[in-house]
Amino acid sequence: MADRTFTPDGTDGTDGTDAGATGALTAAEVERAEARTAHNYHPLPVVLDRGEGAWLTDVEGRRYLDMLAGYSALNFGHSHPRLVAAAHAQLDRLTLTSRAFVHDRFADFCAGLADLCGKDLVLPMNTGAEAVETAIKVARRWGYDVKGVPADEARIVVMAGNFHGRTTTIVGFSDDPDARGGFGPFTPGFTMVPYGDLAALEAAVTPTTVAVLLEPIQGEGGVIIPPAGYLRAVRELCTRANVLMVADEIQSGLGRTGRTFACDHEDVVPDLYVLGKALGGGIVPVSAVVGDRAVLGVLQPGQHGSTFGGNPLACAVGTEVVAMLTGGEHQARARELGVVLADRLGAMVGHGVVGFRSRGLWAGVDIDPALGTGRDLCERLMARGVLAKDTHGSTIRLAPPLVVSDDDLGWGLDQLEACLR
Ligand SMILES: *Cc1c(COP(=O)(O)O)cnc(C)c1O
Repeated sequence: MADRTFTPDGTDGTDGTDAGATGALTAAEVERAEARTAHNYHPLPVVLDRGEGAWLTDVEGRRYLDMLAGYSALNFGHSHPRLVAAAHAQLDRLTLTSRAFVHDRFADFCAGLADLCGKDLVLPMNTGAEAVETAIKVARRWGYDVKGVPADEARIVVMAGNFHGRTTTIVGFSDDPDARGGFGPFTPGFTMVPYGDLAALEAAVTPTTVAVLLEPIQGEGGVIIPPAGYLRAVRELCTRANVLMVADEIQSGLGRTGRTFACDHEDVVPDLYVLGKALGGGIVPVSAVVGDRAVLGVLQPGQHGSTFGGNPLACAVGTEVVAMLTGGEHQARARELGVVLADRLGAMVGHGVVGFRSRGLWAGVDIDPALGTGRDLCERLMARGVLAKDTHGSTIRLAPPLVVSDDDLGWGLDQLEACLR
């Protein structure tokens, strides 16, 4: 892993004035991409062609510290040797069978992930949104078969400010006008309450409620952490009301916050974990819903599926990811580095930063709007060799790979500080 401080080529590492000036190669490649893709993203004008650890290199040979880590899909960094080796070995053997047959990597993956979660069963899918959809279907089915909710009356309580993916059902219960506008009509059966407001949640739970679906920390929302005790109270309410607690840990889980799951910070165990992103080791899309037999056991053959879900390549990589998390070193590293991150951000408050929230190696940083938008700041960071992403307005999210070195993290935060001047 990168354990030296690199100064990106093409910058002098101090004022960044000549850095990140879009080179001819970059401009041409961005233009070619824009010409032939739907414009559902507005990427920074950087064209990457290599990654190792916490560092990326672009087509001009400039190096960048990755402070986004694929929205936490790259918790173990780029090209982690263990993950790449697991993928290579599997590529040469068997990559896809469909679930019509059993393959020899399937049982280990399911058992390993179930054990990591302290649950009985795993239902593997591919993307995060598919796993969320799966959890919704399982919760409804459980509601009818186990709880006894009358047919087609199941309701799921969701949180304002949520982000659970991009399918029509999921954007239908988003309150982000960009995410949902123009995509209706939407799936009924969802009730929205303010995030972190226990009284509102209590009032929203009715006899037909089958689940409360929430992110234990809202990532896309700007790394929003609910009030202390909230997750525990949600757990108690769900148990009392016979409602499933479904934790979308797609972004918050698998080490990012300094624990395996963000729910662990309040010693809370949800009924269903929804996992994705880092589960694929930054190599392949791997997602899963993990729960006990009493819940996931409601599905019978033919009632749910996925052509690629649980394929041998995904299982080989996912098994290695689980093995890497079992030792706890990555979680410990996120805790250690998280202290540094919070200290450094704390010192920036009042100096260009108006506020921040962090847990482990994950922070949402609100930039003084007088300094420009979050996007403006990310462009300035890019010019200094740091890649990050704004979320809402003037908030930027910092989530470097958990394998980043102390020096590199410090250097990245130096660049942020310099951009605020
Ligand atoms: C990214 C994300 C999703 C969606 O995952 P995709 O793989 O993009 O479908 C769902 N929930 C949360 C909390 C996420 O961060």
